[in-house]
Amino acid sequence: MSPAENPPEKMLFQLGLRRRGISDQAVLRAMEEVPRDVFVDPADRDAAWRDTALGIACGQTISQPFVVAYMTEQLQLRPEHRVLEIGTGSGYQAAVLARLCKEVLSVERFRTLADSARQRLVKLHYDNVEVMLADGLALPADLGVFDRIIVTAALPGIPASLTDRLQSDGIMVAPVGPPNGRQTLVRITPTADGFERRELFDVRFVPALPGLAREM
Ligand code: SAH
Repeated sequence: MSPAENPPEKMLFQLGLRRRGISDQAVLRAMEEVPRDVFVDPADRDAAWRDTALGIACGQTISQPFVVAYMTEQLQLRPEHRVLEIGTGSGYQAAVLARLCKEVLSVERFRTLADSARQRLVKLHYDNVEVMLADGLALPADLGVFDRIIVTAALPGIPASLTDRLQSDGIMVAPVGPPNGRQTLVRITPTADGFERRELFDVRFVPALPGLAREM
């Protein structure tokens, strides 16, 4: 029996998320329904339902489930929302988002990762996710604005190129901090005269890097 079909393992996964404070039922359901074992490296399948980040191709990581659930909860998604994700990686976070909103555009700078995430999401029938090979920090202007923005790679700061894409009643969640230093999860909401910035807790993400990746 694969870990995904192993009830005790999935029950512990859900229990762990609740215990750590995730209380939004829709988020918990999405976390239960998205088969994380399909998004991890085949060699790591046994660890897929544990609450840890794992390595994926191109030296990147699939985030820790608690952090995925927490960031998703912070976005307060509604079924009509259009969401931008910077940092597709495995496609796992995009799949969780896709269960809770209308449309996800997920952007990745590694071709290998973008291609495999896209294939995985198609196979699992996540038809409302588009994976795009692009630099999320320099997106084409014609993509428009988004109800929610989630960044899953650490930014040195929040660039105007991203806040400019947020609806006036939008929410953005992003890890901010240097590659090997203190990174904090930050929630940004537009106000009448700028943005409100709330620091949530410290995290560890791979850095957001400019441009398309040269290798693959
Ligand atoms: N959300 C992913 C984990 C992301 S790891 C998941 O659920 O699996 C961070 C990802 O951000 C990496 O794949 C990295 O290549 C990507 N990334 C870093 N800088 C980027 C940029 N400027 N534009 C797009 N993607 C970027």
